[in-house]
Amino acid sequence: MRIDIISAVPPLLESPLNESLIKRARDNGIVEIVIHNLRDYGLGKYHQIDDDPFGGGAGMVLRVEPIFELIRKLQSERTYDEIIFLTPDGKTFMQSDANELSLKNNLLMLCGRYKGIDERIRQTFITKEISIGDYVLTGGELPALVVIDAIVRLLPGTIHDSESAMLDSFQTGLLDSPLYTRPAEFEGMKVPEILQSGDHEKIRIWRNEEATKRTKERRPDLLE
Ligand code: SAM
Repeated sequence: MRIDIISAVPPLLESPLNESLIKRARDNGIVEIVIHNLRDYGLGKYHQIDDDPFGGGAGMVLRVEPIFELIRKLQSERTYDEIIFLTPDGKTFMQSDANELSLKNNLLMLCGRYKGIDERIRQTFITKEISIGDYVLTGGELPALVVIDAIVRLLPGTIHDSESAMLDSFQTGLLDSPLYTRPAEFEGMKVPEILQSGDHEKIRIWRNEEATKRTKERRPDLLE
C-alpha cells in the first residue's frame, strides 16, 4: 500500500510515522508513506497557501491553486483508490472504515488547516471525508495519523501475531476482555485463576463472557 499525505506542517507527521509499528511496516516495505509539503506549491515569493475568506469573518482558508496543482501532479503519477479529506463534518471514523481502507492500494490524504479548505477542492477531488470525532483540532495532521495508524496495523506483516488485531475491540463486535500479565499477585490483587489454568477452551469462554459483560456495561449500543 502507498499513502500520500498533503500537509502544510509536515513535521507534525514525521515523528509519529517514524516510530514503532509504522516505522517497521515502512522499513519492511509493507506500506510506503510519502509526505508532501503544501508550502512547496505556495504562490509567489512567500509561498502563500491561504487567504481571507470571501464574505469576511475570522480565520484564513487554504487556497485552491496550490492544492489543485499538487493533487493533479500526484494523479498524473498514479490512480488513487480514495482521496480523503480529514474534516470535522465528515463521517465519523470507525473500525469498519479502517478495515475497508486497509484493502486499498493507493490513498491520498489532505490535511486541512486554519478555518479549512476552499469548497471547490472538495467538489473536485475528494472521494471520502473523515472526522475522528465531534471536536475541532487545529489541523488534519493528527486525524490523518489516527486513520493511518488504524489502517497500517491491519496490513499483513505489520503485527507479528496478525490474529491479535482481529480480536481487538470492535472487530469482534465486542469490547476487549480484561488483560493481565505477571506477577500473578500484586498488592493483594490476584489474576483470575482461570487464566492460569492452561485450559484454552475455558479461557476462551471466560474471555467472551467478560467481553460481553464489559460491552453491556460500557457500550450497549454495540450489542443492538
Ligand atoms: N472550520 C472548521 C469547522 O468548523 O468544521 C474547522 C477547521 S479546523 C480548525 C482545521 C482543520 O483541522 C480542518 O480543515 C480539518 O482538516 C482538521 N480537523 C479538525 N478537527 C477535525 C476532526 N475532528 N476530524 C478530522 N479533521 C479535523
